[in-house]
Amino acid sequence: MKAVICHAPKDLRVDALDEEQPGPGQLQVRVAFGGICGSDLHYFQHGGFGTVRLKEPMALGHEVSGVVSALGEGVEGFTVGQRVAISPSRPCFKCRYCQQGQHNQCLDMRFYGSAMRFPHIQGAFREKLVIESHQAHPLRAGVSLAIAALAEPLSVGLHAINRAGGVFGKQVLVTGSGPIGAMLIAGLRRAGAARIVAADLSDTALACARAMGADETLNLATQPDALAPYAKDKGQFDIMFEASGSDRALRAGLDVVVPRGVIVSVGMGGDAQLPMTQLAAKELELRGTFRFHPEFAVAVKFINEGLVDLRPVISHVVRVQDAVQAFELACDKTKAMKVQIDFGVEPAGI
Ligand code: ZN
Repeated sequence: MKAVICHAPKDLRVDALDEEQPGPGQLQVRVAFGGICGSDLHYFQHGGFGTVRLKEPMALGHEVSGVVSALGEGVEGFTVGQRVAISPSRPCFKCRYCQQGQHNQCLDMRFYGSAMRFPHIQGAFREKLVIESHQAHPLRAGVSLAIAALAEPLSVGLHAINRAGGVFGKQVLVTGSGPIGAMLIAGLRRAGAARIVAADLSDTALACARAMGADETLNLATQPDALAPYAKDKGQFDIMFEASGSDRALRAGLDVVVPRGVIVSVGMGGDAQLPMTQLAAKELELRGTFRFHPEFAVAVKFINEGLVDLRPVISHVVRVQDAVQAFELACDKTKAMKVQIDFGVEPAGI
């Protein structure tokens, strides 16, 4: 079977791997669509991020959907041919954080396509994948498998919203309107935010932000001072989600978020320098967010019931044999939002 494997920075190959058979409690799934994420691009472009470095070839990918192709011993509630969204979150369910319900902080997490540990956890961009049955979330008839592959980034957005606390009736700023920003906007609309302002450097991203439900969009490349009016009276936004990974955007947030407001850092932008005096004087709360766990089921429910329309996020669908071009395309933020790899199971239907 084909698998999309990163050997080194800028050395991505579609290699042949042996198929695996499902063990007890497991499912074998034909992978249908796989979305390319920012972390996949970091491995592709730089061989990792921060202290996380590729030390051996690693299959990329963790945003996948598919069709069940074989059942392991003792699996109940699934049938061959069933269409599923696949959660890449594989916590141990035993450690102290799992016991506390903080599965995303698991001490023994095996999240797909991650070089955080060695041997690396191989990714899900492969034609057939063996998963634990708890990772499979059934799809309602008629739901596109391409849309289902967005359940993972939507879960990231929903977890970030949970980290912010209540957003109902709030004025919200989202900086960085890439795919995660777009998912945040969809989730914020659903959660009852009163007003959502999206900022980015790319008109492509901002057009998507509007389609997802942003009330106002600001292009900070063409209008670098567009946020300035929001600094009036110590700030206008109750909550800011920083999803661009830019420390300049994070610093700008300190001016436009109200005293005791919340800033959620979603992007993995490296090391930021922050004026701590301003943070202290405005009594701001800076909160992190990382992956998700229970939110995956919520994301699939939203998708199954048509409660969010995620179609604007998918900008390109590329055949698996052209995976290298797909990754190069995904690096170009002026053209691409979510680029998905099509493993040829069924048409995207979007
Ligand atoms: Zn654990």
